[in-house]
Amino acid sequence: MSRPFELDALFQSLTALPGVGPRNAKLFEKLCGGPKVLDLLWHLPVDFIDRRFSPKISEAPEGCVATMEITVLDHIPNARRNQPYRVKVRDDSGVMSLTFFHAHKDWIEKQLPQGEQRIVSGKIEYYQGNPQMVHPDVAPLSERASLETVEAIYPLTAGLTNKVVRKAAVGALRFISTLPEWLEPEYKKRQKWDDWDVALKQTHEPENMQALLPEQSARQRLAYDELLANQLTLALVRHRQKRIGGRVYKCNGVLRSKMMTALPFSLTGAQERSLSEIDKDMHAPTRMLRLLQGDVGSGKTVVAAMAMLSAVETGAQAALMAPTEILARQHAESLKPWLETAGVRFVTLTGRDKGKDRALLLEQIQNGAAQIVIGTHALFQDDVAFADLGLAVIDEQHRFGVHQRLMLSAKGRGTDVLVMTATPIPRTLTLTAYGDMDVSRLDEKPPGRKPVETLLIPHEKLEDMIEGLARKIKEGGPNGPRVYWVCPLVEESEVLDLAAAEERFDILRYRFGRVGLVHGRMKPQDKDEVMARFAAGELDILVATTVIEVGVNVPEATLMVIEHAERFGLSQLHQLRGRVGRGGDQSYCFLVYTGPLGETAKERLSIMRQTEDGFLIAEKDLELRGAGDILGVKQSGLPAFRLADLSVHGELLAAARDDAQLIMDRDPELESERGKALKTLLYLFERDQAIQYLRSG
Ligand code: ADP
Ligand code: MG
Repeated sequence: MSRPFELDALFQSLTALPGVGPRNAKLFEKLCGGPKVLDLLWHLPVDFIDRRFSPKISEAPEGCVATMEITVLDHIPNARRNQPYRVKVRDDSGVMSLTFFHAHKDWIEKQLPQGEQRIVSGKIEYYQGNPQMVHPDVAPLSERASLETVEAIYPLTAGLTNKVVRKAAVGALRFISTLPEWLEPEYKKRQKWDDWDVALKQTHEPENMQALLPEQSARQRLAYDELLANQLTLALVRHRQKRIGGRVYKCNGVLRSKMMTALPFSLTGAQERSLSEIDKDMHAPTRMLRLLQGDVGSGKTVVAAMAMLSAVETGAQAALMAPTEILARQHAESLKPWLETAGVRFVTLTGRDKGKDRALLLEQIQNGAAQIVIGTHALFQDDVAFADLGLAVIDEQHRFGVHQRLMLSAKGRGTDVLVMTATPIPRTLTLTAYGDMDVSRLDEKPPGRKPVETLLIPHEKLEDMIEGLARKIKEGGPNGPRVYWVCPLVEESEVLDLAAAEERFDILRYRFGRVGLVHGRMKPQDKDEVMARFAAGELDILVATTVIEVGVNVPEATLMVIEHAERFGLSQLHQLRGRVGRGGDQSYCFLVYTGPLGETAKERLSIMRQTEDGFLIAEKDLELRGAGDILGVKQSGLPAFRLADLSVHGELLAAARDDAQLIMDRDPELESERGKALKTLLYLFERDQAIQYLRSG
């Protein structure tokens, strides 16, 4: 099956719309986040101007937008170029001027002939005590209706005016056609929702403030459609995964007990609980698809290791995949003593293994000599074959997509999947990103950690703070504190980010000497090298843009400085702060801010002072910023919604999840009437991949 033809009109290029041409198509694409007509239809108005208000001149309040019937009195052309051209007009209540800057005389004379009546529409302003309209829209009396409208106001970008965007949007509305209804009829009735096409048109014709609210009926319906497409996709993935039968591991935990003897600590309650949830999955005949969520330092690695040992004990292999080379090596390093004690053979495979070495590793993986394989996405490659991959553990999953998750597990038969993420995600968001998975949470830190002390530093005090740092580093000598220094996030510009970081780097290097710099544009090798020097204690300060590798572990680092902290989201601040406080020493986090702070920024910084609970912070973040911005969307890999706002539409998400579940129970191949309509929904949201999971293709 390919895309239903009803959708063709919506998938046309934006250039099919009036006023969109080769010159501004790129701007439109940037504005609405995609190249097709539908993208503009999903670009919803944020405000409107009501031009239906029609007061008398003498009664028109300043600042209001009005449409009025007037008679043209005189023209007062401008004497100099930089003066406006004025036209005096009147109605039976008074006189006002129409003001034009840089306008052509001929054009104005033609539009507003002396003595004639016209309709003008614009904003009433007072200039030297007299009412005026600057650059009003003008029409003959017969076209009154064309001006007396409600004009939707769209979010804009430099180079596109609302007039142009509105015109294109009105053009786009004409491409909307009736689509088969994919909503469950009872639910739709209960919600009192309109059809899809009606709802979409409505959102572009707001007539009052209510119409702009996300709680409004048409917007709810559209949000629900988007969430349903998301949940249905995940449900299809899950269904397919579970259809492939799982394995039943019969193990008595010998290897695990051996490993326990090498652990200098006992498991936390949360670790025990998560592990027993994993065990239950692994002992059951269905496949495990489980997400293990826990803050940095909550002890995910131990749990993963124990799970891998269960697989190994029954003769299967286990793989642990990390998003970067450096993390893969770090995992290998920390697992080594435990695996050795348990007598398990493991290898590490990353993109750097080449030639003969690589061939040897591949052989060990293929013949089963390697019982555990630790690596990067190099594990995906076609020539990597496992003897019998029973369990795939994927760390820091938000760097990978649902699809990659499938690719690794496809390397075995009925392979169990355990995904670990250090990003505490609010429950609602977990559903959208991992709706296909069961969730275990490590919500308790191992004992003995000192909380990180968080201080707010106004930018004016930055020098004093540096002074203090210099003293500490000097006093400490070789065992002095190690410092992460995160540089400001400059809006939308990696180049400016970098410039700021380089400048800070120069200043600090001049002052401290042993300072390194890492940023997103460096080659991975170079980045790894600087990080390694920092980890080894050859550098006191590591200056970084926000790209500090997720999860990198330098227990000796006890100081975190974040410049322009007010520009970061809560979850980001939390992630950054999580890089210190990993060793036994007291750690500090300095949030350097530049005032004046807005309400939200103030609240964010104060929450950072109050708590280190990642889950709580994530919930707050969602509340304060809306889902779109959480974690700085780009690096999060979480689905970005166009129409749904999860800080408002959380309940719809839960409903969509249940709906998707029901659909999978009743009609998993989407063959019924509603099923077919649901396929259209999936195409509408470009979930073509999900459709391939259907037997009927
Ligand atoms: P995560 O992967 O969740 O960031 P790790 O698994 O790397 O966390 O654990 C962080 C540190 O805490 C490691 O040094 C680990 O050995 C230690 N650790 C893990 N579990 C416990 C525990 N129950 N008690 C004490 N220390 C623990
Ligand atoms: Mg980790």
